[in-house]
Amino acid sequence: MGLSAQVVETDQHKLVIISEDISSLPTHFFSQLDGVDRVIRVQTPCPLALGHEGPAIRLDNGATIGGGGPIIIAGPCSVEGRAQLIDIAHRVKGAGAGGLRGGAFKPRTSPYDFRGLGREALEYLLEARQATGLPVVTEVMSAEQVELALPLVDMLQIGARNMYNYELLREVGRSRHPVLLKRAMSATINEFVQAAEYILLEGNLKVVLCERGIRTFETCTRNTLDLSAVAVLKNMTQLPVIVDPSHATGKRELVRPLSRAAVACGADGLMIEVHCDPPRAMSDSSQAITPAVLADIVDDARAIHRLLNPDKALSCGSAPLSTAVAASTLSG
Ligand code: PEP
Ligand code: MN
Repeated sequence: MGLSAQVVETDQHKLVIISEDISSLPTHFFSQLDGVDRVIRVQTPCPLALGHEGPAIRLDNGATIGGGGPIIIAGPCSVEGRAQLIDIAHRVKGAGAGGLRGGAFKPRTSPYDFRGLGREALEYLLEARQATGLPVVTEVMSAEQVELALPLVDMLQIGARNMYNYELLREVGRSRHPVLLKRAMSATINEFVQAAEYILLEGNLKVVLCERGIRTFETCTRNTLDLSAVAVLKNMTQLPVIVDPSHATGKRELVRPLSRAAVACGADGLMIEVHCDPPRAMSDSSQAITPAVLADIVDDARAIHRLLNPDKALSCGSAPLSTAVAASTLSG
């Protein structure tokens, strides 16, 4: 037919995406071709991420991260050493977290700040994962780091500073590994969703979006937590949306109230920085909370979720991350 197409292979389907205007061609031209299961007409720049209307392509994972309730992913900003990580991993598990975070490769504003233990930290994350059974998420900033982290962690994090790094987005897409994509500090919601589309287009449907605050004129908080974005994204996409109240506020005393607000407005989970000795944390010390405060936040999240979803069975924070995001399937 003289049309060009992009082929996307997911674990379940092969999608042939035609971006040209084919509105004048009847649907049966395509549906009668051998091997075509279904023809879906979409009118959006992000057909994979925004499949919510009518028979559009849908990522059938709505609120699946955490299943019946919000998942709490917690841990230190940076992995600082073996003993520190194993200790905090047991403590966040004890507090009710369903996932462990820890930075091995740290993007720091100043090149003189601690930039993470790198490869060594990945080994400790694997050990903490084995010791606690918690799924692990860590940030990667280059293709080389993707390769190193891939066999050792359950989920790759793309940080705010790399949301616009389209080659890296394609790389984690090709990895087919679950991805936690953070919103850049200056990204519009549409730019955020299009960044997710880059990953989905590689056939990787296991993408979770994370609102972590945007840069505004306000200086009392590190960033401004955009809870509207959570509600907008929940309406707009089928992807799970979680909130990071730690980087959003930069202040430990604000992490609990904003965690409550995030769960109340429909977030599928939280990502929170926790340290056994917050004032001594090697990075982001002012926003680190203790495991005891984390336990209170997990209780809050469960109570709020129960209040707002009286009919749903609850498994707050306990659903394994890998299972939850693996539930991302293409349907609809
Ligand atoms: C982090 O999660 O440690 C981090 C650096 O976050 P962000 O990319 O949102 O600044
Ligand atoms: Mn941090």
